[in-house]
Amino acid sequence: MTGGEPTEVTGGGPGATSDAPAGPVRTCIGCRRRAAAAALVRTVAVPVSGQASAPGGVTVVVDQRHRLPGRGAWLHPDPECLALARRRGAFRRALRLASGFVDDAVVLPAEGGSGGR
Ligand SMILES: [Zn+2]
Repeated sequence: MTGGEPTEVTGGGPGATSDAPAGPVRTCIGCRRRAAAAALVRTVAVPVSGQASAPGGVTVVVDQRHRLPGRGAWLHPDPECLALARRRGAFRRALRLASGFVDDAVVLPAEGGSGGR
C-alpha cells in the first residue's frame, strides 16, 4: 500500500448536537433505550374473562390513543424490540403482571406501520 490515505472527514454528523426530543421521554422495554414517547407505542394489560388463551387472566394490547387506564409499557414498534421484551419477560415486569403471565403470548398488531394491507 503506498500512500493515498483518504482524508479524514470531520464533523457533519447526523444531528448529534442539541437533539433533545420535544415532549415526554419513555424507555423502551425491549432495547432499554430512551426515546420520545411519540416514537414508541404504549401497551397496557387488560383483563380478559373467559379466555383460556390468556395466561394470567390478562392480555396485552397496544394503546394507540394513549387513553387506556393502568400501567403502560413503552416499546419501539420494532419486531426486534418486541422479541427482546418477550425474551426477558419485560412485559410481565413492566406491567406488574402475575407470574403466570407468558410474555410470548404478547402479539402486537400492525408491526411495520399504518396497516396498508
Ligand atoms: Zn426499543
